[in-house]
Amino acid sequence: MPELPEVEVTRLGFADRIAGGRILHVRLGKSLRWPLGVAATLLEGMQVLGVRRRGKYLLLDLDGGMLLLHLGMSGSLRFDRFLPPYGPHDHFELTTSQGVLRLHDPRRFGAVVFVSSESDPVAVKLLGGLGVEPLTDAFDAQAFHAQLRQRRAPIKQVLLAGDLVVGVGNIYAAEALFRAGIRPTLRSDRISRPRAMRLHAAIREVLSRAVEVGGSTLRDFANAQGDRGHFQLETRVYGRGGQPCHVCGTTIRQIRQGQRSTFFCPVCQKS
Ligand SMILES: [Zn+2]
Repeated sequence: MPELPEVEVTRLGFADRIAGGRILHVRLGKSLRWPLGVAATLLEGMQVLGVRRRGKYLLLDLDGGMLLLHLGMSGSLRFDRFLPPYGPHDHFELTTSQGVLRLHDPRRFGAVVFVSSESDPVAVKLLGGLGVEPLTDAFDAQAFHAQLRQRRAPIKQVLLAGDLVVGVGNIYAAEALFRAGIRPTLRSDRISRPRAMRLHAAIREVLSRAVEVGGSTLRDFANAQGDRGHFQLETRVYGRGGQPCHVCGTTIRQIRQGQRSTFFCPVCQKS
C-alpha cells in the first residue's frame, strides 16, 4: 500500500511538469472507490495550477476546482509526454497540454474525486479528519506530547489512527518507535515528555529518510509499472521478527496488535 513517502515522491515526480497544463481530455476506466463527482467533459479546458499533498491524498489544484486523488491499495501514477497504450488496469487518465497523467490501479481502491474547493463538503469529509503533516512546522513536539497524553490506546495504535499526525503507517510506526526506544504496546497517556520528544524526532527522521530514498527512484518515475511497493527502507525492526537486533543482538519480537504485525526489540524498547 502506498504510504505518505511514496505519495510525496509521486507528487515530486510530476508536480512541476504538469503545472500550467491545460486539460484536453479525460478518460475514465472501470469505477474506482468513489465516483468522479462531475461529468468528465466539464474538466476539459481547466488549467492545472499545481499539485499539493495532504496525508495520502494528492490535491490537483485546477482553475475551476480541485481533483483529489488517492492511490488506494495498489495505485500508481505515471506522467509523461506520451505513455504506452491504455491498459486494462488503467482507470483514469488526464491528457493535458504538458503531458499525460495516468492512474494504474489493479485493485481499484484508489479514487479520483472532483470538488469545487477545499471547503466543499466532500473535501471536508475526506480531508477534515486528518492529523497534522509530520514533515511541516505544524507538527509541534509539545502539542504532540499533550495530545498523546489524552489517549489511552497503545502508542502504536494512536500513531496508526492518523488523526493526531498523518502518514505514520505500520512500517514507519515500528521504525520510529524503535528509534525512540518505546515499546509499541505502551499506553499513550503514560508517555513521558522526553520520550514524546524522541518519538517526534524519530517520526520526522524515518519519514524524511523514506522520501529521500524514494527520491532516488524519481528518474524512473515515468517508467514505473504498476505497484512499485515500498521503498527499500533499511528497516531495523519491521519485517525482522526472529532476527537479531542491529543494536543489541537480542531477537526481534513479532506480535499482533489490532490485526497488524508489530515488531520490536524487547531490550532496546523496554517499556
Ligand atoms: Zn535491541
